[in-house]
Amino acid sequence: MSTEGLEAFSLAGRVAIVTGGNRGIGFAIAEALGKAGAAIVIAARDADAGERMAASLGPRAAFIATDVTSPESCQAMVRGAETRFGRLDILVNNAGIMRASRAEDTALADWQAVLDINLTGAFLCAQAAYPAMRRQNGGKIINMGSLAALFGTAAGAAYACSKGGILQLTRSLAVSWGADNIQVNALLPGYIESDMTRGAEAERPGAFDAKRARTPAGRIGQPEDVAGAAVFLASRAANFITGASITVDGGYAIHI
Ligand code: NDP
Repeated sequence: MSTEGLEAFSLAGRVAIVTGGNRGIGFAIAEALGKAGAAIVIAARDADAGERMAASLGPRAAFIATDVTSPESCQAMVRGAETRFGRLDILVNNAGIMRASRAEDTALADWQAVLDINLTGAFLCAQAAYPAMRRQNGGKIINMGSLAALFGTAAGAAYACSKGGILQLTRSLAVSWGADNIQVNALLPGYIESDMTRGAEAERPGAFDAKRARTPAGRIGQPEDVAGAAVFLASRAANFITGASITVDGGYAIHI
């Protein structure tokens, strides 16, 4: 960094996969990584949205239909990125769902769906990406956590467990793959306006106002607010940062 200056933040020549990149926070990250110079693979299930959003990023972006709960699909995602763009440098494990229900009312199928997508999905994608990154002597994995990794929540035990698991997955992979020059870090966004939170607001009006009132920044976050930290963690400027988590929350987590 000291000798390179701002070039250390450039992603020119890099290839990134963003799971759940067809909307919300994932798309904002895909767009920002692309602007920093990376070729982008958007990996998600909804092909219409995926193709459309990849096309909006220009010729150095592609959509690969992916279900992160399937090991075969995750492996095909990595093969597709290598076939299309020749390598894989950055994996953003962003795909996620939220099912709000109190613990006593949570159906086993909902508990499992949340854990399967949010936590096991990140593990399967990282596992699929590892051989490619190892061959290239390095890579960056960014896992999407949440403030729910730090706080308990009455309306989403499964979600909180999945995001708490993301923190430990991040630390474990960082230790496992440190010698391979693969850095693994987590982002912990606060309340961000997206389909996910708009859905929660529609079900329980007032959630946005309550979060805004507690946030020192005085506002709800936008998907673009999360993107800068992702670009930083994906860049050479962050080469000595691994196993860390960064809150991106307008100060929510430090406000008593
Ligand atoms: P959205 O609901 O807008 O987007 C979720 C994304 O995940 C979609 O692109 C969806 O695509 C993808 N996805 C879901 N299931 C799968 C699957 N099985 N395989 C592949 N992709 C899948 O949510 P956000 O943008 O708000 O959230 C993105 C991430 O950020 C999530 O991990 C979320 O938990 C986390 N987060 C969000 C916060 C917020 O306040 N919004 C706060 C903290 C963390 P498709 O359905 O087409 O597969």
